[in-house]
Amino acid sequence: MSKSSPSFTCTACGAAHKKWQGRCDACGAWNTIVEEAPLSAGPKSLGAKGRTIPLTDLATEEDPPPRASSGIDELDRVLGGGLVPASAILVGGDPGIGKSTLLLQAAASFARTGLKILYISGEEAAAQVRMRAQRLGLQDAPVGLGAETNLRDILTTLDAERPALAIIDSIQTMWLDTVEAAPGSVSQVRAAAHELVTFAKKRGVAVVLVGHVTKEGQIAGPRVVEHMVDTVLYFEGERGHQFRILRAVKNRFGPADEIGVFEMTGNGLAQVTNPSALFLSDRDRPAPGSAVFAGIEGTRPVLTEIQALVAPSTLGTPRRTVVGLDSGRLSTILAVLEARCGIPFTGLDVFLNVAGGLRVNEPAADLAVAAALLSAREDVAIPPDMVLFGEISLSGALRPVGQTENRLKEASKLGFQQATLPTGSKTAGGTDMRLREMPDLTAFVGEMFGAG
Ligand SMILES: [Zn+2]
Repeated sequence: MSKSSPSFTCTACGAAHKKWQGRCDACGAWNTIVEEAPLSAGPKSLGAKGRTIPLTDLATEEDPPPRASSGIDELDRVLGGGLVPASAILVGGDPGIGKSTLLLQAAASFARTGLKILYISGEEAAAQVRMRAQRLGLQDAPVGLGAETNLRDILTTLDAERPALAIIDSIQTMWLDTVEAAPGSVSQVRAAAHELVTFAKKRGVAVVLVGHVTKEGQIAGPRVVEHMVDTVLYFEGERGHQFRILRAVKNRFGPADEIGVFEMTGNGLAQVTNPSALFLSDRDRPAPGSAVFAGIEGTRPVLTEIQALVAPSTLGTPRRTVVGLDSGRLSTILAVLEARCGIPFTGLDVFLNVAGGLRVNEPAADLAVAAALLSAREDVAIPPDMVLFGEISLSGALRPVGQTENRLKEASKLGFQQATLPTGSKTAGGTDMRLREMPDLTAFVGEMFGAG
């Protein structure tokens, strides 16, 4: 490695930089850029002749990959219908959110279906993992347990054992003796992930890499290996809440954005098969500032409550606090309400929250967000049996969104009796709900809250 060309890498997103700087241009994180030994540049020249690779045509029919079911439906769904052999899966999440619990339960569940499963812990001693297994009532599951961080030893073991699935907890604790950097550094994490993924493909062993999302810059985060793996799952949730969401952000073998919902209980994570009912709990009486959004998460409809609080501000720049939604989207909706409907939010603090700890990324949530904001501002409750959805354009027009029927069906199933949606939405007419179709935000404001 020549000293003349130092390399700087962001530990949060893996972006390479020519020089050190305080803030990463790629992801915006502060103090995450560290100097790294560059990865080996590979052989200097291709002196020896390679062999010719066999080529096929594009029309060749290929069977869908065979999948192994874990027996945990919420996990199988996020994987795209079960575990694909020889696939590499990254499971990221904040430390302490329950990744090890989830994966130990998954390991036990897979093992009970007859698959050979190895669980390699670099974080905890075998005794600690066993204690957790006992607490979760999993001690009888035939999981092979190892406590090791030396990747050379781990790969030798995997090669000898040839399990169907190896879980590596966590990738940040693994180290290769061929890389001159500390465990957890970008070079080590990348090299270790590369070795494991290559091994997975070559030997037909599926691997799960656990990656902790890190706040400080010394340890590389899971994003630096996202591009190497087939599937990227993030385990999300608020520490104080008992709900956890496993979300696929990338999946070569299934739909991305699919979610699995779990509840943290005394006996580990329990599946939540009806997330809508969960995210809508405690909705007995109508309250101003609350609107129910009929959303789609992955392939299934999920109803969530959007909560807003609007209060006079004592600050020069009023507060805009958002939990569970994109703050840029809130600014846009506030601007449209002001410019197109003449409803200003200047001098008012705005707090917006998605109940239950879910993160909503759909533009279809716009109308429910606007409804919650207006309801809070006017102190008028939205009928408690109403759901809303629709995208708001900058002109104030409401745009129809996909899967209208699925949204209505889920709402109807949960006892909702009316829906507000954009004019032109594709409904097959097969719903018993009362539909209020709105062409634009102004019409919506007029209908729901009087003329302004
Ligand atoms: Zn970055």
